[in-house]
Amino acid sequence: MRRPSGRAGGEILALAEQRFGAIHRISYELLAAGATLAARGGLSCALLAPPGLPADELIRRGADRLYYLEHGRFALPEEDMHIANLVALMRRIRPRICLIGATEFGRALASGAAAALGAGLTADCVGLEIGENGNILQIRPAFNDHVLAAIETVSAFRIATVRYREYEEMPRGREGAGEIVRVPVVFPAEGRVRLVGAPSAEGKDISDAEIVVAGGAGLEARDIPLLERLAVALGGVVAGSRRSVELGLLPPSAQVGYSGRRVKPRLYVACGISGAPQHLSGMNGAEYVVAVNKDAGANIFRHSDFGIVGDFRDVAPPMIDMFAAARRTGAGQ
Ligand SMILES: Cc1cc2nc3c(=O)[nH]c(=O)nc-3n(C[C@H](O)[C@H](O)[C@H](O)COP(=O)(O)OP(=O)(O)OC[C@H]3O[C@@H](n4cnc5c(N)ncnc54)[C@H](O)[C@@H]3O)c2cc1C
Repeated sequence: MRRPSGRAGGEILALAEQRFGAIHRISYELLAAGATLAARGGLSCALLAPPGLPADELIRRGADRLYYLEHGRFALPEEDMHIANLVALMRRIRPRICLIGATEFGRALASGAAAALGAGLTADCVGLEIGENGNILQIRPAFNDHVLAAIETVSAFRIATVRYREYEEMPRGREGAGEIVRVPVVFPAEGRVRLVGAPSAEGKDISDAEIVVAGGAGLEARDIPLLERLAVALGGVVAGSRRSVELGLLPPSAQVGYSGRRVKPRLYVACGISGAPQHLSGMNGAEYVVAVNKDAGANIFRHSDFGIVGDFRDVAPPMIDMFAAARRTGAGQ
């Protein structure tokens, strides 16, 4: 192991994210995104973590170099602590670009680090490419999500956040091929935010769910318990369209789509959702889509494997009974 040299580098830096003692899968997605930009040997990863994490996994998943900053304080999502260390590392290694997951914590770190470094920040990228002039193009939706813009940043430091579940995880396959570089940890002056408790590991992110049951503006507040029962019967989580969030039926964390979350479940059940392009873009990675809509002409049916034309209130109860019975007998596993 060695310390960073401080030379100006041309490396691509992916910031790994860890939660509750485990490396989050967005880290492996960022490595996959970074690999499309990096020449051989030029893909680095930074891990800010408490002791005991399987850091080698990032090497196995494609990092040529792992900058490892190890300290117990990284167990908590202390933004000031993470930002100070990321900024110090970036000043030292001067990567071509730093990729950060567009998770809630990642977004906070990206904006804080960009402000401290005077970096150009492109948020919510759905793609990264090398342009004709060799510069990095950051692809993200623009103009009300109607077009994909290719953004080139000219500032000395560049940061891009990459949407969760946009890239496949980088697979394993690089036993012992990278190096681990231990980086000393810095401690920021006491910040303006004080953490009063540790967050809980409970509450599943809809992006991680295998089964998603989503409700749209075709539903009313009184239908949400039925939607939740359908999700329980299927062993899934509840999500929704932007309209359902705007109507106050579901929380913002449940929104699927361009301006919400991207999901990649095995099964996506869309109830009372019309199938607008901005919604489809968040769920088009689902393996199977089942739609329930009372309008036979609804666009969602053109993007579904199974369609049920009918009123959600009539269709959901027999579905719940059927799936609950299948789960009891083990037939639905
Ligand atoms: C910049 C921008 C970003 C956006 N981002 C997102 C995003 O991230 N996610 C997103 O979802 N949208 C997004 N939108 C909004 C998007 O364009 C649509 O307006 C939205 O997806 C529509 O939501 P919906 O399908 O729930 O509602 P509607 O389009 O109103 O559809 C309701 C559907 O319910 C059906 N229905 C009605 N009653 C029943 C019933 N009792 N039983 C069964 N079916 C019934 C109707 O036939 C209809 O098809 C965005 C828009 C913009 C401009």
